[in-house]
Amino acid sequence: MTILEELHTPVRHTCDVLVAGGGIAGISAALSVARAGADVMLLEREYMLGGLATAGMVNIYLPLDDGMGHQASCGIAEELLRLALPDMLLRPSREELDLWLSPHSAQERAKGLRYRIDFNPWLYAIACERLLRESGVRLLYGVMACGVHREDAWADAVICEGKDGRFAIRADSFVDATGDADILRLAGADTALYPQGNQLAAWYGFTNGDGTSGVKIMGVCDASEEEQKEGKTVEQLVDRRFAGVSAQELSEVTELAHKQIYRDVLAQRAKAPGYDAASIPVIPQMRMTRRLCGLYDMTKADDHRDLPDSVGLIGSWRMRGPAFAVPLRSLYGAQLQNVLAAGRCISTTDAMWDLTRVIPACAVTGEAAGLAAAMTDDLRTLDVGALQAKLRARGIPLTMAEAGII
Ligand SMILES: Cc1cc2nc3c(=O)[nH]c(=O)nc-3n(C[C@H](O)[C@H](O)[C@H](O)COP(=O)(O)OP(=O)(O)OC[C@H]3O[C@@H](n4cnc5c(N)ncnc54)[C@H](O)[C@@H]3O)c2cc1C
Repeated sequence: MTILEELHTPVRHTCDVLVAGGGIAGISAALSVARAGADVMLLEREYMLGGLATAGMVNIYLPLDDGMGHQASCGIAEELLRLALPDMLLRPSREELDLWLSPHSAQERAKGLRYRIDFNPWLYAIACERLLRESGVRLLYGVMACGVHREDAWADAVICEGKDGRFAIRADSFVDATGDADILRLAGADTALYPQGNQLAAWYGFTNGDGTSGVKIMGVCDASEEEQKEGKTVEQLVDRRFAGVSAQELSEVTELAHKQIYRDVLAQRAKAPGYDAASIPVIPQMRMTRRLCGLYDMTKADDHRDLPDSVGLIGSWRMRGPAFAVPLRSLYGAQLQNVLAAGRCISTTDAMWDLTRVIPACAVTGEAAGLAAAMTDDLRTLDVGALQAKLRARGIPLTMAEAGII
């Protein structure tokens, strides 16, 4: 059964660039647009910024480096990490941090430290909000993007649902930072699901009642491709996997995670009476759901390979050594000339997705997508050299040599 609706949707806002989704990728994209001098709006369905990194309780900012002493990811990726340092650092200790701050020191390498920190997700969300506000980004919370008005190969407006009903936001270009490629799918671009699906995760914040606290990690990610070849598997919380793109299934995921958390808190409390849940995730913890099928799939085969349209570099959080250029072609597809993907929904092979989905990589793709969106509403005619020059002027290495990797 279907219901036929006749809709007259008011255009309530216009801007140069609309960023949909306020996770790490959306924050980076919006900041990047604002710094390019364009008028930018950021819409977010929740009432806080950070996405999985905050509301999803995944508060580990993984390394910016290649694990061999070279910083691969720079620019906003580094800035967002540093944002957490003054007031909200949970790990490492201050002493370890001093080592981190001298990343090329032999001492640091000998200790095996990489640029990784754990941060307080709630303060971090507020800090990101302040940063965006001060940068001139217009924020709209509690708004779900639920449609795209498209003309030929161009998106013209995103249709939204908020507390005050349905409305449209018009823009010259768009960044899809929803994590699930919602905008691209709604606009009719080619997208793909993660074929294996996600295992259940139930990370939550706890306190021991003695002043110590942390994040309880339940549901670690799958073994890496390499580990799986060696026969390594990871124990799962439930014997089921989830695509993560339907309301019905995500409701089940949420209830299953709640059940796991509740059970775990009671079990821990039986051992230590002061133990309690301090916070639970308020969005589902899905790692890889839906992505863009763009002009180029990032692939592990490109390890240490310079790419002509590189817009940034990322390392591998899984192991020391690998480094990858992020090509602009992985951020957009053939069907839409003014919509870019950023974050965990960029174009990548299934194996590489595990590396492009993490926080530093999301910041890298967010910054590049935002700058490209600020520069053009027709990606076919974008001067890639000019984009690269602007990224380099922001201190972002685009080749292995520029990062000192070769
Ligand atoms: C269990 C788990 C553990 C992880 N561990 C780590 C880790 O230790 N370190 C690490 O670096 N990474 C980790 N990751 C990965 C990482 O946290 C995320 O992939 C990354 O933060 C994604 O950022 P993003 O901005 O692309 O997407 P998201 O964080 O998913 O942000 C998307 C935002 O868009 C909003 N949104 C979605 N759809 C709409 C819509 N239609 N309209 C409006 N708003 C919308 C969402 O509310 C959200 O705020 C983990 C992920 C999971 C699930």
